[in-house]
Amino acid sequence: MDTETSTHEPADHAAIRAEAAAWLAQHWNPALDSRTWLATVVDAGWSAPSWPVEWFGKGITPDAARAVDDEFKKVGAGGYGQDVTNLWANTVLAFGQDELKREVMRPLLLGELDMCLLYSEPGAGSDLASVQTRAERDGDEWIVNGQKVWTSGGRQAAYALLIARTDLDQPKHRGITFFFFPMKQAGVEVRPIRQATGDSRFNEVFITDARVPDANRLGELNAGWWVLQTALMYERAVMGVTQRRDRDKEKAKINRDPTSEWSAPVPDLELVEFARARGRTGDPIVRQDLARLHCMRMVNEWNGRRAKALMEQGSSTPLASLGKLAMSGILHFAGRLQVNLLGPEGALWGPDWPDSADASYALHNAFFTSIGGGTDQIQRNIIGERILGLPKEPEVDKHVPFREVKKSPGRTLTR
Ligand SMILES: Cc1cc2nc3c(=O)[nH]c(=O)nc-3n(C[C@H](O)[C@H](O)[C@H](O)COP(=O)(O)OP(=O)(O)OC[C@H]3O[C@@H](n4cnc5c(N)ncnc54)[C@H](O)[C@@H]3O)c2cc1C
Repeated sequence: MDTETSTHEPADHAAIRAEAAAWLAQHWNPALDSRTWLATVVDAGWSAPSWPVEWFGKGITPDAARAVDDEFKKVGAGGYGQDVTNLWANTVLAFGQDELKREVMRPLLLGELDMCLLYSEPGAGSDLASVQTRAERDGDEWIVNGQKVWTSGGRQAAYALLIARTDLDQPKHRGITFFFFPMKQAGVEVRPIRQATGDSRFNEVFITDARVPDANRLGELNAGWWVLQTALMYERAVMGVTQRRDRDKEKAKINRDPTSEWSAPVPDLELVEFARARGRTGDPIVRQDLARLHCMRMVNEWNGRRAKALMEQGSSTPLASLGKLAMSGILHFAGRLQVNLLGPEGALWGPDWPDSADASYALHNAFFTSIGGGTDQIQRNIIGERILGLPKEPEVDKHVPFREVKKSPGRTLTR
């Protein structure tokens, strides 16, 4: 039985499902290039159907929007679901001023604007409320000074989501403001960092007297901490169901949105085939590990659906942390298994050993998900406090004006 089109479906879902199916029957053409198709989907309002009509949506409920996604999946068409998966566009929709939305919303949905996250600093990673980058008002603009680090995609980015301190006399969570920050300007210097995988995907960013218009402020002055919570929730939800696309991208079978840097993890079946090709499927330990990996993925997928359903109802859900933590465990487990399947050959690296290089890459790249977007330990803290109801960690500096808080070494605040 096709559970997606159950006869118990509410009437409004069935109606929008039929409308989407009819639209797809008329417009979907697998031969279209992906960008043309995406533009068609965005302009027709199917890419983010739960959004307001004036912002590329259809004004339907989030639940009904998932019926639309089902219809797209059925025919294999991409470009749907951005009302859940596009962290940049969702953050701008929720907190941006209309002027900014008019300028960037469509390019964001079309994946035409390269973006990055200017959150972490040398003295503020897990504890992001300790950011020291300053933004000071100058007429209709803000002048920004500071240093960010681990900025993925910083070199290509046209804009960043930036958190900066705007009031030193407020306690640390309260004096932060969130900006949609233009990267391509004098005063923004991006320096690549070399990673364990050999890539240089992330960077240090030095910001000196750079400018951002007040029209690009997301949310209220000094309320950036709460904007950040929403943006992090979208990021963690995406990381809970996907992995950063890596050097295997040409091989990845599931890759429905060519404009996204994220793709679904390599399916378990590929690992089964890999084990079979190497004569390892008779090994009981290998069989057990393959089955375990499959079960972990299934459970995480169901958890992801729960998180998605809650997010669609507008709640900032700690379940996204559970999904991200689980995905981190899955990617580490899968990477280890892939290396183990190769035996001693798994230790090799380089173009002559493509299978070993792939496996090593998978092993190392798993750390992306266990550190980026908030470490595994931080996700455990969130789960402990917000799902299990355990006592909060003590925070001695929570109510102290940030000016008086002891800062990490090497950082100086001049004003
Ligand atoms: C691949 C990658 C990409 C990234 N991309 C970006 C990006 O684009 N933009 C951006 O802003 N940042 C990015 N980051 C930074 C990332 O968000 C931080 O590295 C992360 O939040 C941890 O901060 P930190 O490195 O300062 O470590 P710290 O916060 O110093 O943590 C060090 C260790 O202490 C543990 N720890 C810290 N506090 C606690 C606590 N309260 N309870 C228990 N354990 C704790 C941590 O889990 C960790 O193991 C990226 C990181 C990686 C690895």
